[in-house]
Amino acid sequence: MKNTTEFNIVSIREDFPILNSKVNGKQLVYFDNAATTQTPKVVIDSIVSYYSTLNANIHRGAHYLSQKATEAYEGARKKFQKHLNAKNSSEIIFTSGSTHSINLVANGFIGLLKSGDEIIVSHLEHHSNIVPWQMLCEKIGAIMKVIPMNQEGELIFSEYEKLLSNETKVVFVNHVSNALGTINPVKEIISKAHEFGAAVLIDGAQALPHFEVDVKDLDADFYVGSAHKFYGPTGVGILYGKEKWLEKLPPYQGGGEMIDEVTFEKTTYAKLPNKFEAGTPNISGVIASGIAIDYINNIGLKTILKYEDALLKYATEKLLEIDGIKIYGNTDNKTSVISFNLGNIHHYDIGSIIDNEGIAVRTGHHCAQPIMDYYKIPGTIRLSLSFYNTKEEIDSLISAIILAKKMLS
Ligand code: PMP
Repeated sequence: MKNTTEFNIVSIREDFPILNSKVNGKQLVYFDNAATTQTPKVVIDSIVSYYSTLNANIHRGAHYLSQKATEAYEGARKKFQKHLNAKNSSEIIFTSGSTHSINLVANGFIGLLKSGDEIIVSHLEHHSNIVPWQMLCEKIGAIMKVIPMNQEGELIFSEYEKLLSNETKVVFVNHVSNALGTINPVKEIISKAHEFGAAVLIDGAQALPHFEVDVKDLDADFYVGSAHKFYGPTGVGILYGKEKWLEKLPPYQGGGEMIDEVTFEKTTYAKLPNKFEAGTPNISGVIASGIAIDYINNIGLKTILKYEDALLKYATEKLLEIDGIKIYGNTDNKTSVISFNLGNIHHYDIGSIIDNEGIAVRTGHHCAQPIMDYYKIPGTIRLSLSFYNTKEEIDSLISAIILAKKMLS
């Protein structure tokens, strides 16, 4: 968007070159934003500019380009510190994505937990916030307990309170469910866990694109996200960790950059954040992710949320006008995600017909099989909206679903 605080959908859409594309001979309508958001031209340009003018390895060279690349990379770290309201920029670790960030933390806890210790997950998690912790349990004999959900797609807080005890060491919950859009009460979840001295990791992959996050206010011990879900490039993730926890966790990977001194007898590790950034990182991607943060802040997350909420309301009403639509996850407190099915028609068949119309939606279990098991369904069609979507696009989707219904009934 060109330096304007006004929300101008025409100008916003011009910022995203891909939105002009044709798919299957039709104008692209992109509704798979919870999987990956599209990339604004400023972010694409920053990658081109990096390789055209700045490319060098960071932290290592005394030469001009290396220093400039290091400044830009570390500048991005400062942007994320400010964006998340972290105390120090050394509490921001760059990774390859939310999955990598969660594995880094779960792996670190292998050394801190013992057999019989308890960890708590929610029923609403993406597989990437389940499997790494299951691996931890298998390795050390820790016990995983699950916060149950209700029909509305909300976590049952009173059941969570019952699971907590002095044995609880870590709680890991997403801020927003990718499959249903539910916004979880993470501040309350964190505060309860802290009464028992447990650390809390919040998976913010689906929160960062939609609303402001203040890790100090939440008092989160760890908070993770993926740049490709907030208009940045793929291959970049962030991990916020409180200094006291990042100091306690052992390094995840060994290699260059993460050391202080290496001899064949012993290696000492670098200070934060380098201790967790072994090897050459995705330098251009990190810098471009900082540009993505500037981009969304330029529009304003409050403005984004208001616009997306209006789209969500419109899409929900329109979908429910179609006979046979069932929406999963009906809490009032949700982001612009709608998971649904149409009668007994398989979600994949509808997805294919919609795709023929140039409309991208996601079908399947959305890497959240426990949620699908809860509803006793194999999957859903998921519409996930961004601030660059329009009501007209939603109308096209509704027409495509009506067409699919006619063809498949
Ligand atoms: N957590 C949630 C809630 C997600 O939606 C996703 C991606 N769908 C992930 C974690 C994993 O993100 P990534 O693939 O970028 O590592």
